[in-house]
Amino acid sequence: MHTASPPAAATALVIGGGVAGMSAALSLSEAGTRVHLIDSDPDWKVYGAGITITGPTLRVMRRLGILDRVLAEGWTADGLLVCDAQGAVISEISTSAQALQGLPGAGGIMRPTLHRLLAERVRARDITVTLGVSVTSLEPGAPVRVTFSDGQEGSYDIAVGADGIFSQTREMLFPGFGGPRYVGQICWRLMTARHPSITRRTYFLGGPMKVGMNPVSPDEMYMFLLEPRAEPERLADAELPDRLAQLMAPYGGIIAEVRDGLGPDSRIVVRPLETIVLPDPWHCDGVVLIGDASHATTPQLASGAGMAMEDGVVLGECIAAAPDIGSALDAFMARRYDRCRLVVENSLRLGQLERTGATPLEQIHVVERALERLNEAY
Ligand SMILES: Cc1cc2nc3c(=O)[nH]c(=O)nc-3n(C[C@H](O)[C@H](O)[C@H](O)COP(=O)(O)OP(=O)(O)OC[C@H]3O[C@@H](n4cnc5c(N)ncnc54)[C@H](O)[C@@H]3O)c2cc1C
Repeated sequence: MHTASPPAAATALVIGGGVAGMSAALSLSEAGTRVHLIDSDPDWKVYGAGITITGPTLRVMRRLGILDRVLAEGWTADGLLVCDAQGAVISEISTSAQALQGLPGAGGIMRPTLHRLLAERVRARDITVTLGVSVTSLEPGAPVRVTFSDGQEGSYDIAVGADGIFSQTREMLFPGFGGPRYVGQICWRLMTARHPSITRRTYFLGGPMKVGMNPVSPDEMYMFLLEPRAEPERLADAELPDRLAQLMAPYGGIIAEVRDGLGPDSRIVVRPLETIVLPDPWHCDGVVLIGDASHATTPQLASGAGMAMEDGVVLGECIAAAPDIGSALDAFMARRYDRCRLVVENSLRLGQLERTGATPLEQIHVVERALERLNEAY
């Protein structure tokens, strides 16, 4: 559906085809902008971990036209169950809200599934996709001029840096700002068969670490475990199952059952948790940074991908509504900065509470307040 008047940007380059970049490409294309999307990965793939989706994430998925497929291929259920380290239920956090207009308040999906659903939407629109290239020089202005790693050149009304937490676009636009900061926690994720009793987001608090489980389909779930560690450590793949089993040793109930199923073929992904937030504004002379490139969060509120998709949608809406690119990007910042900062700050606060052994109640309180605010319209 095209808008009646021409959009502020006739052409756009989107650098990075993750959830932020694909959402921006779709929303800009819907606004009537001709979009060129590039990704440095020639295979345009994403690693095989599960991802938690919140009610607000489902809301933006509906806006992007992938909700039906997410409901069919992922898993959704209301509520967030909080258990102790032995699996006894302590409390339940409500995730339903009027602002979500009947959508489930939580869910899960495999990252490659989400990537495929968005990529199919991108491929179905008149969006040019070039894989295996990056930007080697970037000259902000009107137009923005770029040189690509394959030697090609281009000029665009707007360039969107959606190239993730280690964004090269960020380095080119704001040299000297620095990179992400490690927060002292390692995230372990295990993809495994869904335990029959795991039917929704479930946290296990009050043990030495935070552990959670979430279905990603009727057959599969993922477990995450946040290990406090002063410095990140590189482990060989063969070491992962034993090390994870050791970390899970203090736990009983379902966690102990899952631990007993660990073996050399277990699908385990380990990542250090890092964060970065750029100050307002995230744009300069026609180049804007979105998603993890401008606000990478730790995963405690399970909202990083949701915020990245919202960024993309809002960017297209602002380009469609504003008279020129500068005012569109100012309007974008007015809608995005506080909301994205809220996610990062509350996630970091939760990480701190986890590392200092705060009571489950203190942690639940922060989650509830943040979810309430995130349910509000973006
Ligand atoms: C351990 C962990 C768990 C998480 N769990 C959740 C969760 O449960 N729920 C949730 O909502 N969020 C979660 N997140 C956050 C979420 O993963 C990110 O916020 C989200 O992936 C950001 O999307 P993005 O598109 O900005 O960046 P990315 O997903 O990193 O995508 C960047 C894209 O840019 C491409 N690229 C990189 N460099 C270049 C370049 N120079 N040129 C061209 N292309 C380039 C990459 O190939 C990639 O396709 C988690 C994060 C972590 C670290």
